[in-house]
Amino acid sequence: MNDYSKIFTDFLLRKEMKFTNSRKIILDTVFSLHDHFDIETLYETIKTKHNNVSRATIYRAIPLLIEAGLLKKSLRSLSKDKYEHIFGHPSHLHLICDKCGKIIEEVDKDVENLLNKIAIKYDFKIKEVNVSLRGFCSDCVKVGSSNV
Ligand SMILES: [Zn+2]
Ligand SMILES: [Zn+2]
Ligand SMILES: [Zn+2]
Repeated sequence: MNDYSKIFTDFLLRKEMKFTNSRKIILDTVFSLHDHFDIETLYETIKTKHNNVSRATIYRAIPLLIEAGLLKKSLRSLSKDKYEHIFGHPSHLHLICDKCGKIIEEVDKDVENLLNKIAIKYDFKIKEVNVSLRGFCSDCVKVGSSNV
């Protein structure tokens, strides 16, 4: 069993819930998407291989994955909530284009050090880091910021 399955089965066990086949399919698909995705995309991806997993089942599984610490709702782009799996990825910041929806990820040690420094100052224990910059990507800036 891989690490994320182990984390999820332990979590479900504590909640006295079963690791059903649907939950396994959802979990594996979430960990096959190494990018930011919305639930509709997740549903479409699952549907191509398994037509027995309903949209409702997916919607119910998402909060469980979040509570288990495996998934997070990381940002909103073009009015859609985007999720990404946490496990196995370094914390990073997002640059989100408001026009085309492009998401750029950046891992920056200086920013991380700065955030840690701030947390230490307030004796604050960081659980999750969520830093996003919103604006326009280089392509969209070229098209002309006049119509923004
Ligand atoms: Zn990944
Ligand atoms: Zn753009
Ligand atoms: Zn990300």
